[in-house]
Formats: sequence, C-alpha cells, structure tokens
Amino acid sequence: MGSSRRSRSLVALAAAVALALGGVAPAAARPGHPGNGEKTPVATGAGGAVSTVDADATRVGLDVLRRGGNAVDAAVAAAATLGVTEPYSSGIGGGGYFVYYDAARGQVHTIDGRETAPRAMQSDAFVEEGVPIPFADAVTSGLSVGVPGTPRTWETALDRWGTLDLRSALRGATRVARVGFVVDQTFVDQTAANSARFSQFRSSSDLFLPRGAPPAVGSVFRNRDLAATYDLLARHGADALYSGRLARDIVRTVQEPPVRRHSTLVVRPGLLELGDLAAYRTRLRTPTHVSYRGLDVYGMAPSSSGGSTVGEALNILEARTGGPFDTTQTLHGYLEASALAFADRNRYVGDPAFVDVPLAELTSDELAAQRACLIDPTRALTKPVAPGVPGDDDEACATTAVGSQGNDGQSTTHLTTADRWGNVVAYTLTIESTGGNGIVVPGRGFLLNNELTDFSFTDTQGGQDPNLPGPGKRPRSSMAPTMVLADGSPFLALGSPGGSTIITTVLQILVNRLDLGMDLPDAIAAPRATQRNTAAVQAEPGFDRTALQALGHTFVDNPEIGAATAIEFLPDGSLLAVAEPTRRGGGSAGVVRGR
Ligand code: GLU
Repeated sequence: MGSSRRSRSLVALAAAVALALGGVAPAAARPGHPGNGEKTPVATGAGGAVSTVDADATRVGLDVLRRGGNAVDAAVAAAATLGVTEPYSSGIGGGGYFVYYDAARGQVHTIDGRETAPRAMQSDAFVEEGVPIPFADAVTSGLSVGVPGTPRTWETALDRWGTLDLRSALRGATRVARVGFVVDQTFVDQTAANSARFSQFRSSSDLFLPRGAPPAVGSVFRNRDLAATYDLLARHGADALYSGRLARDIVRTVQEPPVRRHSTLVVRPGLLELGDLAAYRTRLRTPTHVSYRGLDVYGMAPSSSGGSTVGEALNILEARTGGPFDTTQTLHGYLEASALAFADRNRYVGDPAFVDVPLAELTSDELAAQRACLIDPTRALTKPVAPGVPGDDDEACATTAVGSQGNDGQSTTHLTTADRWGNVVAYTLTIESTGGNGIVVPGRGFLLNNELTDFSFTDTQGGQDPNLPGPGKRPRSSMAPTMVLADGSPFLALGSPGGSTIITTVLQILVNRLDLGMDLPDAIAAPRATQRNTAAVQAEPGFDRTALQALGHTFVDNPEIGAATAIEFLPDGSLLAVAEPTRRGGGSAGVVRGR
C-alpha cells in the first residue's frame, strides 16, 4: 500500500540541493524547517506553510514561499518534487484535483486535472468474450492509461493564480532529480513490491532496479531522464507533453508496451492516440459546498466523488436527531453516514460530461434528512444499503437494493500549502496504483498511470452504472482535497491518498476535529476506520471497536488507512501545518517562520 515518505539523512546532500536552488541554506535542526532530511509532522508559525509526505517536497515548496512565491507556486513546485521523490504515487504521467482559496476575492476555485479515456474507448473496453479482464492484468497494461492531466493542471493553476511560470516552478524539482535524493526503506519497499512487473520492462528496470534490484537504503537516487523531461516542459510549457516527440513516445509506449521479449506477462496494449493527447483539457469546476456546524466546506465536484460524498455524509451527520452524541454515537454516526453516502456515490456519480449527476440533490439537506432517518442509534444498518432517491422528498427511510464499490487503488499523494497573503491550496494527485501501470516511458524518467482501472469494468448498478468507460470520459475518482472556511476565511485545508478510503479519511478527520474536539495533530493521528457500504468496517489495529461491535458493526483489519496532510488557521493568525506522525513513515510539515 501506499504513497510514502523518505527519511533522508544526508545533510550534505540537502545542503547541496538547497545551495543549488539558490543559496537558501537548509534550516537544519530547527523544528518546522525541513531541509536537513529530518521530517517534522507538526509545525506552527507564520509567513506561509507547506505540508507533504516528503521532506524534499516540503523544503522546495517552502523555498518558493520564502522567495515571494504564493501558495499556488509552492503547490506546483512541491508537486513536481513529489514526481521525483514519490514517483510511484504521483508524477506527470498522472492526474489530480487542485483546490484553491483566493484570499483577495474570498473565493474557492478548483481544477479537474483527471485523466481522460482515449476517444476509441467504449463501455466494454475491459471485457473480453463477455468476461471482465482480471483486475491485475488491467493494472499493468497500456489499456488502463488515461491522458495525463498533471502537466496541464500545473500550467492552468500557474497561469490563473500563480506568480511563477512553469519554468521557474519546476526549477527546484529538476535539481532534486539531477542531484538526487537519499533512498529510505519505504522507497525500497515500494520498489520491491513492484519489482516483478518493473523487471518485465527494460525502461522501468533500468530506472528503478539498477543492477537488477531495488536501490539500497541510504543510496542517492538520481533521475536524469526526468530532469531532462522537466527541462523540456520548462522550455516549451505543458504542450511539450501533449504534442511533439514526448507525446509520440507516450503513445508508442501505450500502444506497444515495451515488454521484454520472453516475458510471461500478458500486457494488453492501449487505445491512446496523439489526437487524444492534443484534445486534453483541464476543467475548472464550481466546488461542492455544504455547511457543517456553521462552517463552509468546499470540495471537488465530479468527476471526483470526493466533494459530494464527504459533503453528503456531513449533511447526514448534521441531520441526525437525538444529539448531543457521545464518542461511540459520534463514530456510529460517522460509519453509518459514510455507508449511506457511498451507496449514493456508487449509484449517481460519474463524469458529468457523460451522466446527469444530481449534484445539488446529493449535497442537499433534503436527501440528508431522507438518509439520516435510517440511522438507528441502537443498531448498525445491514450493509450494503441501497441508494437513496435524490430529489424525491417523499422517499423517506427507503432501503431495498444493493450498491457496490468500483475499483480504487492505494497510491496517490496529497499536499497542502498556504502563503503570507492567505491563499491556500489543497492538491491531491496520483498515478492510481503504487507504481502506476509499471511502465516507464523509455528515456523520459516517469511512470504512466493506470487510472482507467477506476472505471467500473462491468455494470454494478442494475443497468445504471454511471462509471462505465466511455470515449474521452474521466473515470470517477475519490480524491477529496477539501477547504473549510469560517465566516469566509480559511479555517482548515486537508486531503489524503488511499483510493476510496480518501473520502472516509477526510470525513473522519473532520469529525475528529469538529465533533470530538481533538486538535488537528490528534485528529490526523487518531486510529482510522472506513465504512464504504460493505458488510464489514475496515479498521486500523488501534481503532477502539468494542462499543461499536455492541451496536452490530463488524470489523476487519486494515493495517494503515490514508496519509493526510493539512493546514489549520489558528485564531491568533498563525498557521498549524500537520502531516502524519507515523503512517507511511510520517510526513513533513513546515512553515516559513517557525514559532
Ligand atoms: N485513483 C484513485 C482515485 O482517483 C486514487 C488512488 C489512490 O488514492 O490510491 O480515487
């Protein structure tokens, strides 16, 4: 499982990178100032903040802020660095969702940078002779590759709201690719987990399995091909990936996967053509909005189900009667509300260019009331629960049929930034599985995504599945970069990786923070559980189950759920940047001026 974190201990290397970046010495050993390879999960201060899973990415983002860049510049710079240091979770071969709070206008904007299916893709693309192809086969294939959205997302964000151009925003990341970063155990583990399939592609094994094995812990990992690719983007803009030689390399890799001659892997080719790349556009979407406990919660609209599902679940919690609730009842409500909201997600949410998503109804108080009255304080609902009927106010407390989840991966990364002017970014990006489709574009230094495995391979909704493949369609995502405002000003920005558990992780952090009264570091550190409308709840070992079991919830273990980052805006005007203390090795939070 997982995106990751690298504990980089070579102070000398960090110093070299920082000097190469332009002389800002790494703020070694000062808490809240990543740059010496140490990772600090909590930092408080002023002047701006960055929280990512990785010390290098956080340092590069903070460096941009220190030089006068804004939160958008820092987010792109940090994301590009994650493309180097977290190449199995994110990169220019993938896509994501960018949520931006514009302080000057007091508005939340979002970019849908989701991958799109090739125009030749039909609804039965993942079915052969009437049978869905094995999921694992689809993961490592050309067929699962969508048109990458990440380079266009960076350019869109910088053009609209940044102060830097792409060239400047890529500078720090390019240096890290060229100078290298220090490999830690997580990088080794993720490489080892992928080594069977990486070894089947010369391009992937040359980069990630030097001398036939994962690089050693403590060694310096360089990616000169990626540095050259970033240079290309710096010179020609994002267009360099959507047309020209790099585009041709991507198309060739998808259509004729460079699998070794005697490989036993069945690697299905994909349908991607140059025209698909040329036609790619990001979409600016109106964010989802619900109010919760007097706060305004903004999220990502479809093609992601993140905003509507987090929003619907919060509405359900607020519509519950009988409070105030103790901890057990609060968590019971959390599990039931997420199951109910997931039933509706599965039935109604897909790419709005292809399906009529009843978004206003899904985030309405009316639907929340219809769903909340199903929650019995004395007994857990039998799962899966049926979807509700958005827009039908008479449909109270109805439940009959069955919903099911689509395919979601385990990779991805989330970063959060804020600047001295009060702008804020919550940005989640991915290549879907850890290691994407396993295929590095030869000579280019990055992995391709397998995002199209987020489509339903066959109908899961009684003939009404909104998430079947389609030409140019975006597969439904669960990514949920979230922005919470109090009286129009930022209060909290957060997000997480973890496939469909992203939704419940964001929701649980909000419930911990807003309803259970935890501070943000505790709200993130607390053991997690996830109920996505399945018979059993998945829970981390530390999650207290006893009282919930007495209500009829059943549990199965999940060793680790999510890897969040967040920034809270404290009443005194300072910033509290928070990352994971231990999950996936812990993340890296930093502020421009520490307290
Ligand atoms: N592809 C997934 C989604 O968009 C994210 C993958 C993950 O987080 O593991 O929902």
